[in-house]
Amino acid sequence: GSPDDAGDAVLITGCSSGIGAAAAADLVRHGHTVYATARKPETLQELAEAGCRTLALDVTDEASMSAAVAAVEAEHGAVGALVNNAGYSQSGAVESVSLDDIRRQFETNVFGLVRMSQLVLPGMRKAGRGRIVNIGSMGGKLTFPGGGIYHATKYAVEAISDAMRFEVQGFGVQVILIEPGLITTEFASAATSSMSGLDDGGPYGHFNNAVADTMDSIYRGPVAKVLGGDPDDVAATIRKAVTADKPRPRYTVTASAKLAI
Ligand code: NDP
Repeated sequence: GSPDDAGDAVLITGCSSGIGAAAAADLVRHGHTVYATARKPETLQELAEAGCRTLALDVTDEASMSAAVAAVEAEHGAVGALVNNAGYSQSGAVESVSLDDIRRQFETNVFGLVRMSQLVLPGMRKAGRGRIVNIGSMGGKLTFPGGGIYHATKYAVEAISDAMRFEVQGFGVQVILIEPGLITTEFASAATSSMSGLDDGGPYGHFNNAVADTMDSIYRGPVAKVLGGDPDDVAATIRKAVTADKPRPRYTVTASAKLAI
């Protein structure tokens, strides 16, 4: 069977809001078996009412990750598709972000994605099929002042996805990378406010405010008309990645891509 067989389970990380929540709602509406997960499972009430199974899953916690994967495997043999979506943006000048904050950023955006992939792959290899859908970013290809740390994690997601795609394709497992542009979610509000939260008196104070203003205007201004999108656009692309007979290796999600389709 193909991954859109009703019995195949889709496991999604970071479903408390934004893209993860939209993807879970979209897939369950289209008849898929969806495991919506979040580190605070009480945030998943609405998705549960919509028919999603819900599980606690923190991508920085080994026990929580392996328990979630084991729970899906106990019911379905293997995870049919893993959507590595959980992530956040740590902004600030490279000089001013602490190594602890940088470690936390990589822990979630990179190590969490890698560890989840490692945990689902043995089951997928045994099943002879499966899909790993990684939520990267257009910020995995370009960067700007104040974005170095977050973008480094998304550049890493590009490299890991491209390498893993070739490693696992012989086992019937496909790796698909999705690169959203500017998507209006909690992420956008955090990205436009966190820069100005840095110490204005510090050496990059002027700069950080300028970046915050720029972020604000790109999420709300004319650039968003080309690079923007909403969580439902990404959700529709995730569904394509999970269900298409021959999914593309990567999909960009922007308003202009939508126009092109
Ligand atoms: P949201 O902030 O709305 O959602 C992020 C999700 O990640 C939340 O559910 C959050 O949960 C979860 N999360 C954070 N840390 C962890 C963790 N340790 N374990 C499990 N879940 C965690 O933002 P988006 O929906 O926009 O972000 C989803 C993905 O899309 C991210 O990978 C982001 O980098 C990417 N992206 C977003 C873009 C945008 O413009 N919005 C553009 C390009 C990529 P909690 O509520 O518990 O914090």
